Amino acid sequence: MAEEKVPTSDVMWKIDHNPPEKGWMDTKAEFRKGTWCYSAGAKSLQYLGLPYPRKWQACDEDWKLPENWKEIIHKGLKERLDRFRSLRVFMDICVRCGACADKCHYFIGSGDPKNMPVLRAELLRSVYRNDFTTAGKILGRIAGARELTLDVLKEWFYYFHQCTECRRCSVFCPYGIDTAEITILARELMTLIGVNINWIIEPAANCFRTGNHLGILPHGFKDSLDFAADEISGITGLKIEAPINRKGAEILFVTPSADYFASPHYYTLLGYLALFHEVGLDYTWSAYASEGGNFGLFFSHEMMKRLNAKIYAEAKRLGVKWILGGECGHMWRVLHQYMDTMNGPADFLENPVSPITGTKFENANSTRMVHISEFTADLIKNNKIKLDPSRNDKWRVTYHDSCNPARAMGLFEEPRYIIKNVCNNFFEMPENTIREQTFCCGSGSGLGTDENLEMRLRGGLPRANAVKYVKEKHNANIVLCMCAIDKATLPELFQYWIPGGIEVGGVHEMVANALVMKGEKERTADVRGEPFVKEGKADV
Ligand code: SF4
Ligand code: SF4
Repeated sequence: MAEEKVPTSDVMWKIDHNPPEKGWMDTKAEFRKGTWCYSAGAKSLQYLGLPYPRKWQACDEDWKLPENWKEIIHKGLKERLDRFRSLRVFMDICVRCGACADKCHYFIGSGDPKNMPVLRAELLRSVYRNDFTTAGKILGRIAGARELTLDVLKEWFYYFHQCTECRRCSVFCPYGIDTAEITILARELMTLIGVNINWIIEPAANCFRTGNHLGILPHGFKDSLDFAADEISGITGLKIEAPINRKGAEILFVTPSADYFASPHYYTLLGYLALFHEVGLDYTWSAYASEGGNFGLFFSHEMMKRLNAKIYAEAKRLGVKWILGGECGHMWRVLHQYMDTMNGPADFLENPVSPITGTKFENANSTRMVHISEFTADLIKNNKIKLDPSRNDKWRVTYHDSCNPARAMGLFEEPRYIIKNVCNNFFEMPENTIREQTFCCGSGSGLGTDENLEMRLRGGLPRANAVKYVKEKHNANIVLCMCAIDKATLPELFQYWIPGGIEVGGVHEMVANALVMKGEKERTADVRGEPFVKEGKADV
């Protein structure tokens, strides 16, 4: 349990927001246990063909860097400034107004000024000024410029792995500076000299080997889906199947691997299976595209592209018309913002049309990929499924907007519409912590590791605090979300910060409970195997 590994929450709560005595350029990163992630294993780097695989850790004095590491970074930065106009703009236009300063959950939870988005970006910007601007070359520190040294690189490693690439800061920046993009590019530069973290590189390597981050082989994938199909068949009394690699199906369904391997994700998987059976969807899973998530997003545009390619490749091989995607976070950021231009256009696919309602999902005409919440909300809106929300009356629900579906896609209403149709008791967290202002779980972008536990609990404090509020005010007892990382890390976060904790689940878990299926046996228990408790709508 968390308390054994990190200080207790009453100690962690005393956050010191006073700046350090020395200026930021003279304050070195301190690699304190519990606040940083282990380096990437050599084997995984080799597997991906990434440079400088070796044994090292961030707390070591000697990082065993290549001799010309500074030249490599300089050249890499120059290439990226030429290639990404956004990077050059982000390096030049920050006026240091401070509007973003207190918006980052890592700054709020740690009190460390270098976790202010503006100062996080300055870590890279100072080197950019030194190497690429006249003022920086002539005036040095006075112009906010500094040379790249080993201490600066150590700062990069430490603080660019304390950014979950959630983009909350960019909502508040008057210039739209996206610190998440700066973090991705800084991590990309570090990748050039073999400076990566393991919980990004190993899942990426697994994905190449087996198609998914967890390294589940095709027969394991099939076993898991068959097991889930048997389980939902047992719950409903209906013969429900999970078709895999079925050529000629109308729709390819892709979801994060945690959905078929982890809990509470698994209950969401049961929801997909029940729903697709009920509406008679002509669909298939793919054993190769058995992962929607894409850890490439966290550190490399090139890797993101390579990992994403399998989804279109499988859609083509199986001959489907369009793609449907499950509850995931960063998977959707890649699919929504990058897939079409990186690996498209997917001319071999059709513009998505729901075979059940006839609705044209015109917003997905470029990617040809529809989000499960759009699909399900459309079914409900068109009265295509029968729902009994009282089956979820034991749950007093609140909804955490997972950063990527919310901020990167604007999916605010669809999940709420579904929840309000399948649950009687729904309560919002405070306005400035939901929708586009949602607070990150603190564990995204590869930071959800055990060794980084203290820092991610700190980063998750604002989210937990808002959940604690809604628990105390409305007696909420479950947080629903649409992201595999959220489902994996929020339970521990809430157990730590909220007395008595609170359950975590997926939106389609609630759909599975409420769905009244044609020919189903009398159901007395939910998909967790717990009896239905019908209490009706609570006062809101
Ligand atoms: S809000 Fe934007 S312009 Fe202002 S300090 Fe932050 S990044 Fe710079
Ligand atoms: S993207 Fe998120 S984690 Fe990164 S600096 Fe901005 S608010 Fe903080």
